[in-house]
Amino acid sequence: MRIAIVGAGLAGLTLSAALHRNGIAAHVYEQAPELAEVGAGIQLAPNAGRLLHRLGLADRLDKVAVRPVALEMRRYHDNAVLFRHGLGADCADLYGAPYYTVHRAHLHQALLDLLPSDSVTLDSQVVAVTDREEDVLLEFADGRSATADLVVGADGIHSLLRARIVTDQPRFSGHAAYRGLVPAERLSHLLDEPKVLLWFGPGQHVVCYPISGGRTISFVATAPAGGWRVESWQASGSVEELAEAYEGWHPEVLGVLRAADSVQKWALHDRDPLRRWRDGRVVMVGDAAHPVLPFGAQGAAQGIEDAAALARCLTDATPTGLDEALDRYERNRRPRIAAVRAWVQSNTRNHHYDDGEQQRQRDGAMDANWGLTSQEWLYGYDAERLDG
Ligand SMILES: Cc1cc2nc3c(=O)[nH]c(=O)nc-3n(C[C@H](O)[C@H](O)[C@H](O)COP(=O)(O)OP(=O)(O)OC[C@H]3O[C@@H](n4cnc5c(N)ncnc54)[C@H](O)[C@@H]3O)c2cc1C
Repeated sequence: MRIAIVGAGLAGLTLSAALHRNGIAAHVYEQAPELAEVGAGIQLAPNAGRLLHRLGLADRLDKVAVRPVALEMRRYHDNAVLFRHGLGADCADLYGAPYYTVHRAHLHQALLDLLPSDSVTLDSQVVAVTDREEDVLLEFADGRSATADLVVGADGIHSLLRARIVTDQPRFSGHAAYRGLVPAERLSHLLDEPKVLLWFGPGQHVVCYPISGGRTISFVATAPAGGWRVESWQASGSVEELAEAYEGWHPEVLGVLRAADSVQKWALHDRDPLRRWRDGRVVMVGDAAHPVLPFGAQGAAQGIEDAAALARCLTDATPTGLDEALDRYERNRRPRIAAVRAWVQSNTRNHHYDDGEQQRQRDGAMDANWGLTSQEWLYGYDAERLDG
């Protein structure tokens, strides 16, 4: 089977690596002229980390990533710890992989290094995909074309291939995410105990953690977006504007935000769940299928899960069983994404309560119900263990 993957993001590259491991060749077409992931951190939960370990990336991740020892939630104005649970060795013991925080570029390069060098073609913007009797035709912006037996849409939130299934548009959330990277020596107190720190406050929150072996602190600060609608990792915001948005927050929070020389600003969008995940011999993975808001740090993790599940289904398929393999993939992924999406939606409310009754209930419930073991449904899920 000739498989074409459109998009060399984390989902597309993981799929290619998983297929390659299983002896199935796939070719990735990427519109960018060079492969350079954005300068930002990412949290890699064990439901994704475990799958990457199986691809052979355990040693690599240990070298480039950080294993935070805890996740800690704090109040925005007095820095009081609302709740914390251990990660570190407990997480690896419970869920078979650590919780990692990693520079996206390092993760991207690690995946690329798993692939044969001739299996990714850059400068290849797909502009049309047409079903034909024997195969699927991909046409590129520069007039080239290619054929495949199966095309996988891993082309992100603005997916061209998604439009074969539904004609929706990304939905604006009202929030922007400011993202910054800070040399760790400027915030060395955060390295005493490397952890994922979240500060919750009315209408906004901040997440920060070390990456790159502890040399850099990465943060994401959300705030109401005002008129800002640009959705690009390249768009710049201003540190001053960000600090203004966090006026009144504890000096420790402002210290993190102000330590950045520059910030990028991204208007957050999602989309409704897809009714179907495939159309003929085209199937979707990652943000192309299910972009969710980043209030759960699971977007990329779910793309990695999709990739592992699809690779499993295609590997198990009989020579004439492509339709059944794709149905099996969709059957398995749809309920999983629905559960993650519902959780992200509840986080969206939960992270941003005004001071008052709901906020006090949240803080109390966190104490009573949260913990590493309560995340079994999320972190313990094995995307390669399929039903049916
Ligand atoms: C602020 C923020 C913080 C986040 N933090 C986390 C986190 O901590 N943990 C986590 O798991 N997730 C996180 N996410 C979510 C995560 O970033 C995304 O879910 C993930 O990067 C999506 O990967 P993807 O491969 O599906 O899509 P993308 O990364 O968007 O990749 C799509 C690729 O397809 C290419 N492409 C697009 N159209 C075409 C075309 N027509 N032809 C050829 N190529 C094409 C693009 O150039 C791109 O390379 C965060 C998101 C945001 C916005």
